[in-house]
Amino acid sequence: MAFHCGTVALVGRPNAGKSSLLNALVGARIAAVSRRPQTTRTRLVGVATDEELGVQAILVDTPGIHEAWTPLNAFMVQEAEKALDEVDLACWILDAEPLVTAVAEGRPVLDGALEQVASRIAGRTLVVALNKVDTVDKPSLLPVLAAIEARLRPAAIVPISALKRKGLDDLLRTWGRLLPEQDPIHPPDHVTDALERQIVAELVRECVFELTEQELPYATAVEIERFDESARAEGRVHIHAKILCEKASQKAILIGKGGTMIKRIGIRARKGIEGLLDCHVRLDLFVVVEPDWTKKPRMLRGLGYAG
Ligand code: GDP
Repeated sequence: MAFHCGTVALVGRPNAGKSSLLNALVGARIAAVSRRPQTTRTRLVGVATDEELGVQAILVDTPGIHEAWTPLNAFMVQEAEKALDEVDLACWILDAEPLVTAVAEGRPVLDGALEQVASRIAGRTLVVALNKVDTVDKPSLLPVLAAIEARLRPAAIVPISALKRKGLDDLLRTWGRLLPEQDPIHPPDHVTDALERQIVAELVRECVFELTEQELPYATAVEIERFDESARAEGRVHIHAKILCEKASQKAILIGKGGTMIKRIGIRARKGIEGLLDCHVRLDLFVVVEPDWTKKPRMLRGLGYAG
């Protein structure tokens, strides 16, 4: 059987279900699933392989594509558009529920923000993954499918439920049809080292958001300084991570009274990382003030935003 393998950029508004889909496809925790929008900022890459279907999709995340225009986000939008130029196809994950409501009320299927994304995607091979179809009636989906077809003329529309793991074979099969015929590039269970580090950074960042609640703006980044795997065979990994923030006041929040906050962040993050890496983890966290880190492209590149 011919194998199809290539790169797929996942495009999706926060909460559309991108992380859930990644997790369902790759079968490991590769993006932090969160009810809080926009915790995924870095470009995560996963590899979804189905040997029976003869498909390997190398998945690229494009978090900037839905961003508004600020100095930080402008950079991310550019990065996301660049990512789209480099891939074999774009897969746009749309939450079916609001689209069903829009069409039922006689409004355009895509709202203004989605229209902006549509224009950024235009001209690329596009698959629409219509997600969360478990939340809507089947008959109400038909006019939505027709409206998407008329508006975007995608190569395919695949109704899925990332949460209930429905339609995922169809999605992989559809991708496969559109990806170049070639042997798999990665071993089937491949999760790259770089990806693993990104996930670890993402997990720490998510713990920061969860524990500091609304006190910190999204002006925090996590950099993995050292990832010592020399004792991994014995089940131990030692990680040094730096939490970057913009102001001394943010650093004070992150550290907390008598170091209580950083300790809580460390404990929670360590548990998550241990689950991910399946071994004991020693996690050393440092909080560093880097004024304006969000506005410096070189710095962003160092954090992995530019791939
Ligand atoms: P992301 O921001 O696009 O990565 O979205 P997430 O994967 O974090 O999902 C956002 C929310 O939608 C979470 O509460 C998920 O459990 C939920 N969700 C994702 N996919 C589905 C689905 O197929 N059906 C339902 N009912 N909920 C979903």
